[in-house]
Amino acid sequence: MSEASIFTKIMEGEIPGEILFQDDDCIVLKDISPQAPTHMLVIPRKPIVGVQTASSEDEQLLGHLLVVAQRMAAQEGIANDGYRCVINAGVNGGQQVPHLHIHVLGGRQLQWPPG
Ligand code: 5GP
Repeated sequence: MSEASIFTKIMEGEIPGEILFQDDDCIVLKDISPQAPTHMLVIPRKPIVGVQTASSEDEQLLGHLLVVAQRMAAQEGIANDGYRCVINAGVNGGQQVPHLHIHVLGGRQLQWPPG
């Protein structure tokens, strides 16, 4: 069994984290190093490494994460002006934490293409 991810440790209260929302399937955490005025992470409790390893049995969970992202954007006041949901996957995707998470970024004009 691989070591629990930093996000699992936060979920289990082993290390601190600012949790904005939680339900049976996921938590929403304030990013510790925000890249925009609002930067949240929607994280499944299930320790899926990333979208690159999710399977068809995760379909409902993946949909739930997006719906939670949408609700949190509204709750945090960034929905009207627009925001971005990002999933980094693997090395070239720039993924640092091997536990699936959706970044929800907003509160400023975001640039495209990403670096
Ligand atoms: P990734 O690069 O894997 O897509 O994104 C990982 C994100 O997790 C980064 O934005 C990083 O700032 C955030 N992060 C890493 N460690 C912690 C932590 O201990 N607490 C919180 N709240 N966020 C973290």
